[in-house]
Amino acid sequence: MSTTTPQKFEFQAEIKQLLDIVIHSLYTEKEIFVRELVSNASDALEKLRHTSLTAKDVFGDQALEINVTTDDKAKTLTIQDYGIGMTRAELIENLGTIAHSGSKKFLQALGEGGAKNTNLIGQFGVGFYAAFMVAKSVKVYSHSWQAGEPGHVWSSDGSGSYEIEEAADVARGTKIVVELKDDCGEYATDGRIKGIVERYSAFVSFPINLNGKRVNTVQALWLRSKNEIKDEEYTEFYKFQAHAYDDPLLRLHFSADAPLSINALVFVPSENTESFGFARFEPGVALYCRKVLIDAAPKDLLPEWLRFLKGVVDSEDLPLNISRETMQDKALLDKLGKVITKRFLKFLDEEATQRPDGYVKFYAKFGLFLKEGAALDHTHKEQLMKLLRFESSLTDKTKQTSLADYVSRMGGEQKEIYYLVGKDRTAIESGPYLEGFKARNLEVLFCYEPVDEYVMNNVREFDGKKLIAADHADVKLSDIPKPEGALSEADTKTLTAWLKTSLGDRVADVKASDRLVDSPALAINADAFMSAHMRRMMKAMNKEGSDLPQKANLEINPRSAVIKRLFEIHTAAPDKAKLVAEQILDNALISAGMLEDATPMVARLYKLLETV
Ligand code: ADP
Ligand code: MG
Repeated sequence: MSTTTPQKFEFQAEIKQLLDIVIHSLYTEKEIFVRELVSNASDALEKLRHTSLTAKDVFGDQALEINVTTDDKAKTLTIQDYGIGMTRAELIENLGTIAHSGSKKFLQALGEGGAKNTNLIGQFGVGFYAAFMVAKSVKVYSHSWQAGEPGHVWSSDGSGSYEIEEAADVARGTKIVVELKDDCGEYATDGRIKGIVERYSAFVSFPINLNGKRVNTVQALWLRSKNEIKDEEYTEFYKFQAHAYDDPLLRLHFSADAPLSINALVFVPSENTESFGFARFEPGVALYCRKVLIDAAPKDLLPEWLRFLKGVVDSEDLPLNISRETMQDKALLDKLGKVITKRFLKFLDEEATQRPDGYVKFYAKFGLFLKEGAALDHTHKEQLMKLLRFESSLTDKTKQTSLADYVSRMGGEQKEIYYLVGKDRTAIESGPYLEGFKARNLEVLFCYEPVDEYVMNNVREFDGKKLIAADHADVKLSDIPKPEGALSEADTKTLTAWLKTSLGDRVADVKASDRLVDSPALAINADAFMSAHMRRMMKAMNKEGSDLPQKANLEINPRSAVIKRLFEIHTAAPDKAKLVAEQILDNALISAGMLEDATPMVARLYKLLETV
């Protein structure tokens, strides 16, 4: 092989400046240079694979793989591929000209079909220079795939010029030797490089060996076609990607072309660990561009309520700005997030109709996130509300209904959707609030979770119908025929007036109720700003305002035997009547979850028992 004297070149005019930007500010993490060099090696192999489909006389017969070696003593990192290699002219053109991407040119040369070759990573022509963030000098040994060409070594310290010289015994492809700066010795250690390659380049299609050991073993499953992937492969991928040990509950694998080109594979884990008191989920859908990691936990990609999702989103359209590391293009990220969210919501909707049993399982664990979204994410509120499920006064125990099904059962006169919040079904059914709705055949949704009240208040309406708490002061119910033997209207008036005086401060108002059928009385929170539930929550958190005296409206049932008897004794035995009145109020407060201190009640009950 002939060897000529080294030839020295000045970098293209603007390069010094550009190099400065690349080295000092384009990437915030130095370790990125490994990702860039490995991506280039992968591109070179892909180009060779493609070229050898048609070309004859391809130089060399080495396997299509990438070998990374570290030398802790010499403080060097070497990345070698047996790819397409570069001729002398190509070395000058590709490495001497910043922002010149040979990969982009290769794609253009392939024409229409080439633009679709998603296996090529590079397109901006600056990645290579990232090596100078850590390098004293970089040597690039390269031999083109073309048999007649000699090998060369390109070298530079990144300060303004580079040299090219012919070199003997260069294998096909490219070997890059990075001689590290004194403070960058970590990149010459096996452990450090292994971590970086696993993080950013785990899904590169060609084998990557680090000091002789294969590093990447999992495929970029999201880019393969759905019908050729087995369930076990999905599960294995999920475990690898999410660092998980469980089997996923649900998965969604899809691709889209418009408005963005996307390949996504996302999973719902088997458990909602937040509900066990573990830490809040961190964003778990990683962002990739052409199999190379951009961000493992992008904060602004998906809405907060989707934080339980795991998986990968890969978009070729991503790196419209030059740095693949920090996504400055927030609008693009937003757009991407919207597409994924919309698609996932549609998927859940399909699950709910086509595999209702599976959906129920999912909802039991992750329904809370959908509620959070319905309350806080205005963009997706409508679709989220369709996915909510509640038990109701018309469903069997443990069966749930959607809001849409509730609406479909509403009678013509019913304008609102009613709900009651309570600890469980028994608590709501044994309380006094439901009976008036039952008597009128009005369905009431049962809400058992502490957040439900907040969610219902935020959501406000569904399908144009207001959501109203059945124990709210404003609820007006239609008349139903009054049974025989009720207190007359005049007597009822007398009794409510008497109750108001004898209960004094403890009640805001007393009136006859249209909600009651069997129970003697019920209490309604008279505080328009703080519901009983909110009050209890605030008390639990020791919040200001929770210790202000609470006021209730008492509603009595003129048909109830207890009330009729109270009317009889309120003049005949006023002392006893007062005790009974207090007790009726306490009972009503208990049902409303509003009784704060039961101690006085015990003493009073004994007094009442004495009179038996
Ligand atoms: P990009 O990868 O975005 O095109 P780079 O700065 O990373 O930009 O690389 C510039 C060009 O140098 C590449 O497009 C390619 O033509 C060439 N190149 C870099 N590394 C290699 C390699 N290992 N083998 C062959 N060509 C390479
Ligand atoms: Mg590159």
